[in-house]
Amino acid sequence: MTETARFICIRCPMGCPLRLEHEGEKIIEVSGNECKRGAKYARQEFSEPRRELSTTVAVVNGRWERLPVKTTIAVHKERVLEAAREIHRLLPVQAPVQIGQVLIRDLLGEPGLDVVATRSVRLHIEPSESTSEGVRPSSHTPKSRSTHTR
Ligand code: SF4
Repeated sequence: MTETARFICIRCPMGCPLRLEHEGEKIIEVSGNECKRGAKYARQEFSEPRRELSTTVAVVNGRWERLPVKTTIAVHKERVLEAAREIHRLLPVQAPVQIGQVLIRDLLGEPGLDVVATRSVRLHIEPSESTSEGVRPSSHTPKSRSTHTR
């Protein structure tokens, strides 16, 4: 027997209402989408819903106190909270950090689910702390954190 699952596409602000016809696990047809991305989204949402995960983590000795990070692939929908907690358990990160730098590999044991920096953060240098022997980094206290999914 054919059944219908309904979704709202979140791939762009159009928010197309999607209909996915299926027989059990087998997808028959997707309709209501204005572009291919909507069909792909409906199929993904039906068979294996995932969410992109971005958050910020503390930076030690950086010019900025927070570093925006994201996962390289979307996280299983039911594991997003667990993934965010694991990121905050494993980090902060030590400055300097380069944009695109991999901070965690295979998050939650999933191959390819890496966490990368989405901006660069240079080492914090206080002019008065520079000495002929080098630079003494200042200490920073991590502030608030935020986590976003889409
Ligand atoms: S189907 Fe295409 S046009 Fe419609 S909301 Fe999704 S991405 Fe946007």
